[in-house]
Amino acid sequence: MEALILLGAPGAGKGTAAERLVARLGVRHVSSGDLLRGAVKQGTPAGQEAEGYMKQGKLVPDELIGRIITDLLVAGGSQLKVLLDGFPRTVAQAEMLEKVVSAQQGRLRGTVLLEVAEEILVERLAGRRLCPKCNAGYHVRTLPPKVSGTCDRCGTPLVQRTDDTAETVRQRLAVFRQDTSPLIEWYNSRGLLKRVDGVGSADDVTERIVQALR
Ligand code: AMP
Repeated sequence: MEALILLGAPGAGKGTAAERLVARLGVRHVSSGDLLRGAVKQGTPAGQEAEGYMKQGKLVPDELIGRIITDLLVAGGSQLKVLLDGFPRTVAQAEMLEKVVSAQQGRLRGTVLLEVAEEILVERLAGRRLCPKCNAGYHVRTLPPKVSGTCDRCGTPLVQRTDDTAETVRQRLAVFRQDTSPLIEWYNSRGLLKRVDGVGSADDVTERIVQALR
């Protein structure tokens, strides 16, 4: 198993880059946020536990998300190549990942940090819209759909994520600064960190990531 980590604040463009990297790098995109939103939608025990934290923009407990990701990595077997988007988000989660990777005789290929200034993050998150059916992402100003409020791919009315409201966004950014930013030094000290400028078109950012991993 080989794991590549995309690290960055909410709104840094991890999901958008990840979608493009799937084809470029032949990896499977694993988004912890998408997995949790799926569990909430299905009403699984994990989803029921996670829902309250997510609504408030707080992190779900490490054990909860750690178990979901660990199970997925173990089930994927030795041929699995994953791009982790949104996990790990705390040092405890990074330790869990390190453990499962070594237990599976896998390797961490690297950690890409997408760097974006905080004013830009807030603007991106406030304008973000999502198709609830096919998961396509839009932005009211920078990536509008052809017909306002409607998904280009499947015609479904677009929605705003319930945690993309101004107050929850501020909370999520504070959580990133406090709990997730220590991972930058954690991976840097292991010689695994690649810093990438996350401002620009999705194609440009994706290209920078591919180059950084060469
Ligand atoms: P995201 O889609 O990555 O922005 O995640 C949405 C929400 O899911 C976050 O605000 C957290 O509540 C929860 N979440 C996602 N990934 C994690 C994680 N690795 N650890 C804890 N909570 C997470």
